[in-house]
Amino acid sequence: MQLTNLNWPAIQGLSKETPVVFPVAALEQHGHHLPLFTDSLLLGEIIRRTSERLGGRVLFAPLLWLGNSDHHLDFHGTLSAPPRAYLDVLAGMMENFIQHGFRRLVFVNGHGGNEVPGRQALFEVRQRHRERHDLLLLFATYWQLGARPWETEPDLQQRQMAHACEWETSMILRLAPQLVVGDLGKLEAVPTGSVFEPAARGWTTRDRTVPGHIGDPRTATAEKGEALFHAFTNDVVALLERVISWDGKAWNP
Ligand SMILES: [Zn+2]
Repeated sequence: MQLTNLNWPAIQGLSKETPVVFPVAALEQHGHHLPLFTDSLLLGEIIRRTSERLGGRVLFAPLLWLGNSDHHLDFHGTLSAPPRAYLDVLAGMMENFIQHGFRRLVFVNGHGGNEVPGRQALFEVRQRHRERHDLLLLFATYWQLGARPWETEPDLQQRQMAHACEWETSMILRLAPQLVVGDLGKLEAVPTGSVFEPAARGWTTRDRTVPGHIGDPRTATAEKGEALFHAFTNDVVALLERVISWDGKAWNP
């Protein structure tokens, strides 16, 4: 079900156990070869495939394309919500649907920079409603749900998501190849490593890359992109099936 296509009495009439999904992504630079809307295009496709498989059992809000992307602002075209404003927007969307009686609220995320504010928003809303024990508030980043896409597509070189990398470039080649610019073979590989792990280090994207991408887009193909979409969609569907079958109160379902 798409929130944008329904009227308010229809929403009022839904079971309040219906999971509500808020897709959140970004509009930010993705190197010389991918469009600024990459994260939103990719998550939109995963949500489209997911909603086809779940039919009327889940309510999908429209994708929020403005994300937390201040770390990319050295690169032209990036649009970023101020981080504290973004946190309040995410919390506010949860509060809206809690006010409407819904209990199962799930952010499905397609941009790394949204993770910290997303988790903080869950934390704050949960504490604000601390007397409630019937709320399920979740934040899930689609590539962090356990997928091991290289097991079905052994040609994949990367083992984790990077930025405008083999994985993202492959998915854009599958979804919108006309938006991939230039000769991928002329790009360079940009390593993802951090010498201060396991400490978390504050960073800007310019600290890590000159062209804007991180990872190796040279080996991207549309076939790999289809395998990635398939694996990630399976994970999002499986998560939402768990949300649907949750009994409404258990901490350990
Ligand atoms: Zn991206």
